[in-house]
Amino acid sequence: KTYIVIGAGILGASTAYHLAKEGKRVTIIDREEPGQATNAAAGIICPWLTQRRNKAWYFLAKNGAAFYPSLINQLEEDGEMETGYQRVGAISLHHDQGKLMKMEERATKRREEAPEIGEIRQLDHNETNELFPPLSEEYSSVHVSGGARVNGQLLRDALLNASQKHGASMIKGDAKLEYFNGKVTGVYVGNTKYEADGIIITAGAWAPELLKPLGLKLSISPQKAQIIHLKLEDTETGSWPVVMPPNNQYILAFDGGRVVIGATHEDEKGFDRRPTFGGMHEIIDKGLTVAPGLSDATYIETKVGFRPVAPNFLPIIGSIPGFDNLFMANGLGASGLTVGPYLGSQLAKLAAGEDIELDLDQYDVSGAISDNIS
Ligand code: FAD
Repeated sequence: KTYIVIGAGILGASTAYHLAKEGKRVTIIDREEPGQATNAAAGIICPWLTQRRNKAWYFLAKNGAAFYPSLINQLEEDGEMETGYQRVGAISLHHDQGKLMKMEERATKRREEAPEIGEIRQLDHNETNELFPPLSEEYSSVHVSGGARVNGQLLRDALLNASQKHGASMIKGDAKLEYFNGKVTGVYVGNTKYEADGIIITAGAWAPELLKPLGLKLSISPQKAQIIHLKLEDTETGSWPVVMPPNNQYILAFDGGRVVIGATHEDEKGFDRRPTFGGMHEIIDKGLTVAPGLSDATYIETKVGFRPVAPNFLPIIGSIPGFDNLFMANGLGASGLTVGPYLGSQLAKLAAGEDIELDLDQYDVSGAISDNIS
């Protein structure tokens, strides 16, 4: 069977990889949107400490985090050594001992079903500061050894390279659907038509415009996110843990002194790709309160990406009602690097007609689609 995957962010790259690895013929089309979420993403893989209670979301996030080690192994077997994934551990900060106790309890309970959380320990303010020296000395923390970080661009590229090693082809361009009588009959890029048995849409925040000509309104909206990259000179930061402060921001470090801090959550901004003074102020203000030691870091850049957000912030996956050869997943929101590789493996199975681990009713695509837009 043959497949076309439209959109090569983390979700499409994983879907294509899993199909190609199973011997399917895959064509990947991507137009390299500069606001691709995967490109801008921070890279935290640590879903277990959250207070979010939605079970369907947690199922995806937990399985997504657990999926990483085996995926990284498979990619290494395919000769892709640079995935930017490392289990550096994570620390969740607080002043309040009671809150830290609750956090530790929650993590310990969740570990019964998610052994990949690893060791859970409370750290006092000295131990916390030793792990991430720029932090203010006033925070204690809960440390989980299974927390990880990943470079979204490197992982996406590794998946796309490995897909091509398994026979997939890649086309750069803007895809448009051709359809007739409840079936998508082809995909156009410019004047060239591509045909396949199954068409898979993983176009992130831009998916609604692809489906619009089919008379379908897809309720996915872009949530703008700004995120700042810094460099700590002469500092080796590669093994520093992911930091989750008590506010809605985070800080993480990569090799060579690179520190990433963010991000904003801006609704109703459309696809405005400008880094703004106010957005950066919010990140810097919250960031320096938590980590005053970053004040001497070199400013490198501000990235802007668009998180694809579905109704209720819950990802959707399934076939598109009324079109029997059209499949999609979307709505990965703020946790798409965590969920994307796993969800892509499931979407590949779904499109190939195999059994999947997800209860599709919980992630129902039809709830996010309505017909007859004017
Ligand atoms: P995208 O990565 O946006 O990819 C969509 C692709 O579709 C694009 O490449 C685009 O070019 C292509 N496309 C669209 N339309 C067409 C068309 N018509 N023709 C051809 N190509 C098309 N998640 C975490 O788990 N941990 C984090 O720490 C984290 N931090 C984040 C920080 C920021 C600043 C942002 C923006 C996101 C963050 N996320 C994080 C969320 C995560 O990045 C996203 O949920 C995820 O990347 C979404 O992946 P996607 O493949 O669905 O979409």
